[in-house]
Amino acid sequence: MPQLTPDPVDVFAWIDDAERAREEAGLVRTLRPRPSVSPLLDLASNDYLGLSLHPETVRGAQEAAATWGAGATGSRLVTGTTELHTELERELAAFCGFEAALVLSSGYAANLAAVTALSGRGTLVVSDAGNHASIVDGCRLSRAETAVVPHADPDTARKTLAAHEGRALLVSDSVFSVDGDAAPLAEYAAACRDEGAALVVDDAHGLGVLGEGGRGALHAAGLAGAPYVVATLTLSKSLGSQGGAVLGPAKVIRHLVNTARTFIFDTGLAPAAAGAALASLRLLQREPERADRAREVAAQLYGRLTASGLTAARPDAAVVSVRAPSASAALRWAADCREAGLFVGCFRPPSVPDGISRLRLTARADLTGDEIDRAVGTILATAPAGATDGQGR
Ligand code: PMP
Repeated sequence: MPQLTPDPVDVFAWIDDAERAREEAGLVRTLRPRPSVSPLLDLASNDYLGLSLHPETVRGAQEAAATWGAGATGSRLVTGTTELHTELERELAAFCGFEAALVLSSGYAANLAAVTALSGRGTLVVSDAGNHASIVDGCRLSRAETAVVPHADPDTARKTLAAHEGRALLVSDSVFSVDGDAAPLAEYAAACRDEGAALVVDDAHGLGVLGEGGRGALHAAGLAGAPYVVATLTLSKSLGSQGGAVLGPAKVIRHLVNTARTFIFDTGLAPAAAGAALASLRLLQREPERADRAREVAAQLYGRLTASGLTAARPDAAVVSVRAPSASAALRWAADCREAGLFVGCFRPPSVPDGISRLRLTARADLTGDEIDRAVGTILATAPAGATDGQGR
């Protein structure tokens, strides 16, 4: 045993300063476990279709774990592929309208895989400024030249692609996770077609909510299955499970199997997660009205909150973003809602780089009329001074 000095230097002293700064700015984050049977009305989770606790979804997970084990036991290329994984890939691709699919252990890993495997040194990645952190990290890891273009600005994206010689990729969220606004997918696609670039779209918030029966934003835009289009998905939101996927032409998927590091070097998705996602996907196909209902609930929440003077972004999918006067007011507002029995999301910097703090509400398809009344009543009753003098976007 090496001799330990009695008073080692605090090598993490610098964290004290960082913590103090976070405290002063009201930006400290803490983890709180949620109770299994929550007394709170949930408008904070991404369980858009209310499927994570659906008996069929839960049974899908249970049966998969009982058959295949609690863990995948290895990477997908060794022991981590079960028939559930391949069925899920086949059914996801068919449902969303793509030739092939690849399931990964998270949506985060799916974005890293798609962006890194389809770009690389000497290529250009054009990335919408509002993109999710996993796309930003994919760009960083890719060693490609990355051009971050202003949010939802297809003209600048087009000009940036046109100025580049050689291989290029345009990447965007389909629905932006904080404000809930949709990307200009038709314009992005036209720019890619004209400039010979690939289009990668993260449809995390579109799957299950947008398009016919929840087939997603690319299906809604008539872009599913186009030979230059790739979609990334998470299985953790509308499908109520866990995991991610990349969808696209079969040769793109084969390329990912052979080159994407977050696929090759990661343990495969747990069988229970694959089984749950598969059960949810089949349920959604039998009950396509769930997708319409999620959008309808979002429209109701937006309409009623803005009619009462709150400023909110018009929802393009199931996310309703309500503006708060400040970061500390947002935090207080969310805490007051929680005390009154309503669980809402609270977004502050650095999650919102523009510095505007918000409450983030998710419009679940299974919310009843009474629950919507209660949610609206609570948000209005707890609204801080300065929150109710605005209007909708
Ligand atoms: N993309 C977007 C737009 C997301 O909102 C999220 C989840 N926060 C992810 C990707 C990551 O997906 P996962 O949670 O499955 O890693």
